[in-house]
Amino acid sequence: MDCTRTRQLLQAYVDHELEVSPALELEEHLRRCDACRARYHTFRQLRATVGAAIAFTPAPDALRRRIAQRLHTQEIRARPWWARRAALVAVPAVLALVAATLVLVPKSDDSLRGSPVEKIVYHINEGTDPATALRNVANHLQLTPGLKAVVVAHNKGVDFLLMGARDDDGQLFEDQVAALKARGVDFRVCGNTLSRRHIDPTRVIPEAKLVPSGVAEIGRLQTKEGYAYMRL
Ligand SMILES: [Zn+2]
Repeated sequence: MDCTRTRQLLQAYVDHELEVSPALELEEHLRRCDACRARYHTFRQLRATVGAAIAFTPAPDALRRRIAQRLHTQEIRARPWWARRAALVAVPAVLALVAATLVLVPKSDDSLRGSPVEKIVYHINEGTDPATALRNVANHLQLTPGLKAVVVAHNKGVDFLLMGARDDDGQLFEDQVAALKARGVDFRVCGNTLSRRHIDPTRVIPEAKLVPSGVAEIGRLQTKEGYAYMRL
């Protein structure tokens, strides 16, 4: 593959949209050609920057409310005619009352007023891939507005919260952690782990908070604060 063809296909390659065979040819060219490789890195960087900016910008409250309202309206329209009629017309029959209560009240009111907050403590331990874990937390946040999330790192799981730690793509974990923290996710590092592994606490990135024990912290969040446990 030559430079011209490589440049034509580069964007698709970066977006993981190329078939295997052209992708392999392109990779072969990137290994040989400094100019195309430089271009490739620029594309990657750009993609990561844009991706992070988009993924981590929370929708304004007003917009979120409007979407919830719209979904709610569509939901009502999508209901069978008798359910809609039951809501609109005051039919003095007990049956209609029951139908309206059962069909209309639970879902719609919950989604508008906000049901009890979902609280999750994510446990990151050895064997967890932190890049995947952070992605999962970000996705969970996106799908669950108002989610209260705490990430507790323990054992080998603390490494991504040390200064200078990078993922396989060379991106600093600290940037990803900071972006999640800006969206309300708390990061806590197990102090026992640090002393056992002789890690200087000053190496922990400032976005993460030190707690005496990761296990005790998880137990406390579950029993005292009603957090659900999720192992990542
Ligand atoms: Zn080239």
